[in-house]
Amino acid sequence: MRISSDHIIFEMNQINTPALTVKSGSTVVFETLDCFSNTVKSEEDLVSSIDFSQVNPATGPLFVEGAEIGDVLKVTIDAIKLADHGVIVTAPGLGRLADQVQVEETIICPVSDTHVDFKGIQIPLRKMIGVIGTAPSAEGINTGTPDAHGGNLDTTRITEGASLYLPVNVEGALLALGDLHATMGDGEIMGAGLEIAGEVTVTVEVLKDFTLPLPLVETDDFWVTIGSHQDFEEASQIAINNMANLIMEKSDLTLIQAGMLMSLVGNLISSQVVNPNVTFRMELPKDVL
Ligand code: CA
Ligand code: CA
Repeated sequence: MRISSDHIIFEMNQINTPALTVKSGSTVVFETLDCFSNTVKSEEDLVSSIDFSQVNPATGPLFVEGAEIGDVLKVTIDAIKLADHGVIVTAPGLGRLADQVQVEETIICPVSDTHVDFKGIQIPLRKMIGVIGTAPSAEGINTGTPDAHGGNLDTTRITEGASLYLPVNVEGALLALGDLHATMGDGEIMGAGLEIAGEVTVTVEVLKDFTLPLPLVETDDFWVTIGSHQDFEEASQIAINNMANLIMEKSDLTLIQAGMLMSLVGNLISSQVVNPNVTFRMELPKDVL
């Protein structure tokens, strides 16, 4: 089962018409455009030429039968396939060197099965999904904004082999995803990773009695709680509080002891510091619980 990149949305919203309906347990391929809707085709295509109404397309939404409000959607990322080139752009006012950037620049990077070629520097692939989420319960949320429903989380742990747990806020969950990166550093300080088209294979499963804090990533080795907020401190606090709750759910530790455990072995990391809400995450090795 497959959703083509003809089915894109720019807002996670309960009123979006499903592109495909599947049963829980199904495996689905999402074909994705890059975050500029594949409109940046050469290094002459600068930021000022980009139609910002067409930025951050997410493919979908996928309606999962049996997903009811209050359930959790487990999204296992089976595979990410990338196009053979990606793009990074900047312009005055964008990213965390904003004041120092005087001119627009676009760089197109060849991408092999193993590496990104950035101006002759060979960077190992670090594939990831930037935008992935379910529909929120109230008003729609632009696909450029991360929040409790997921969205533009730009979290490098959301990659092949990981599972992402998302809230089901509306019937069917309405999962959508896009904004692949061939590589991105934590923080995404210029506001872009290596933006690239591709396709993502996921398996979706509805969970009825899942009590861990959301959104949550599980890898082979780590639990990863995620917090997004317009304020840096608040974003990091959400990630920390969520991990404290996860630890208490999975152990007999008190809140104070959960904090101590995080202080000993947890890593607080900025996922991205450039979107309308910034995103922090707390990573805890699974083998301590
Ligand atoms: Ca992004
Ligand atoms: Ca991006």
